[in-house]
Amino acid sequence: MQLIEGKVISDKIRNQLKEKIQKISKPIGLAVILVGDDPASKVYVRNKANACQQVGIQSYMYNFPADASEEEIATKIKELNENKDVYGILVQLPLPKHLNERKILDYISPKKDVDGFSPYQIGRLLLGEECLVSCTPQGILMLLDAYNIDITGKRAVVVGRSNIVGKPISLLLLQRNATVTTCHSRTENLSEITKQADILVVAIGKERFITGEMVKPGAVVIDVGINRGQDGKLYGDVDFETVAPKCSFITPVPGGVGPMTVTALISNTLKAAIDGN
Ligand code: NDP
Repeated sequence: MQLIEGKVISDKIRNQLKEKIQKISKPIGLAVILVGDDPASKVYVRNKANACQQVGIQSYMYNFPADASEEEIATKIKELNENKDVYGILVQLPLPKHLNERKILDYISPKKDVDGFSPYQIGRLLLGEECLVSCTPQGILMLLDAYNIDITGKRAVVVGRSNIVGKPISLLLLQRNATVTTCHSRTENLSEITKQADILVVAIGKERFITGEMVKPGAVVIDVGINRGQDGKLYGDVDFETVAPKCSFITPVPGGVGPMTVTALISNTLKAAIDGN
């Protein structure tokens, strides 16, 4: 079994991105909007801002109170849409309950949608056109490529069908010529399907849900889940202890997919800046 070291790959790719950014003779800005003071969101936003700074992207932070109105946030997004130095805009999710996430995200100009959540970018992904691919799925592909893991012709099973992970990674794997099955909470005989996977991607948000007997020997296992266990430690959706001995490659949690998500965000911001010329 080989560990897929997301941190190592992420550092390497960020250095390459930094070199490319240095060659661009204009400031590249990323605007990050945070509404409320959810502690986890604050950490994510800080990580994104720090990572941007490290590679030479200017990050602009906008912190709204938890009771901010749709109109207040929309006004800021519209202003950022017009700002020539800002090539990427992201709204940290989840938003407070009184706000409609889809409506807020729809204010972002699709060209600046570096999270790849807009119908425009998702539609282009579905069509197989150049686009800003949502960050976590893009990060997963970067990992597979970094380890020269062959995707063509392989049986890929994705567990989870969210708009931000499950659906886009299913599309990306299909584009890369895998034969893809997407599973969800209504899937019957889940383990019969997961056992057929050469590449198994799990994004369900259930601690250590996928166990050794659900995995084919030699499979490549990508664990997207981040769950805080009762002991305070972070766990994936995959039971590392029973699954790792069976597979050829596996991502740890933490240190697997997580660091790649921010790296893909940097990559998307650079792409938006180049395309925005
Ligand atoms: P969502 O809650 O949006 O989606 C969960 C998906 O899992 C749904 O499609 C759901 O099915 C499916 N599911 C739930 N229970 C089961 C089950 N028992 N069997 C099969 N499928 C099931 O989650 P996200 O995709 O946003 O996130 C998933 C996990 O990944 C979370 O732990 C999250 O924290 C983590 N994450 C990590 C990121 C990173 O950077 N590493 C980035 C984004 C997420 P249904 O549609 O039928 O309800």
